[in-house]
Amino acid sequence: MSTTAHTSALRGAGLRVTAPRLATLAAVEANPHADAETIARSVRESLGTVSRQAVYDVLNALSDADLLRRVSVGGRSMQYELHRHDNHHHLVCRECGRLEDIPCAVGEAPCLTPHDAHGFDIEIADVVYRGVCSECRAAASAASSPAAPASTPAP
Ligand SMILES: [Zn+2]
Ligand SMILES: [Zn+2]
Repeated sequence: MSTTAHTSALRGAGLRVTAPRLATLAAVEANPHADAETIARSVRESLGTVSRQAVYDVLNALSDADLLRRVSVGGRSMQYELHRHDNHHHLVCRECGRLEDIPCAVGEAPCLTPHDAHGFDIEIADVVYRGVCSECRAAASAASSPAAPASTPAP
C-alpha cells in the first residue's frame, strides 16, 4: 500500500491526514504484528519530532477507526496490523511468540458458530491457534538428543 492509499484510508475513516498518522500506518505495514514500542521507534526514526505518547495516541485512534487491528494473543503486549477486514486468525508459538496469519477457516466471518449465541448477533470469532513453531521444535529436539561422545578411542 502506498502513501496515497493510506491518505485515502484516513479520509475514508473521517480522520485528518497528518504526518504522524501516515508514518504510523507505514510503520505498521512494514512491521506487521509489531507492538506499540516497536512502531513508536520506527515512527520516531522516520519523523524524529513525534513523542512516543503521540504515537500511542495515533495507534488508539487508528484502531478505533478500524484502520488498524489490535491483535492480542495473551501474555504479551498488544500487537498491531493493518485492518484488512479479511477475518483472518492467528497462529502463535508458545515458545518464542512467533505470530503468523491464518486465513479464516471458512472464508467469512464469524467463521465459527456457537451452539448457543445467548441472543447475541455474533459478528466475528477471533481464533488463536497455539503450538510450537518449526524452529523451536528443531531446537528442542537438538537439545534432547544425546550428545555425541567427545572423543572415541581408536580400536
Ligand atoms: Zn517458536
Ligand atoms: Zn494478523
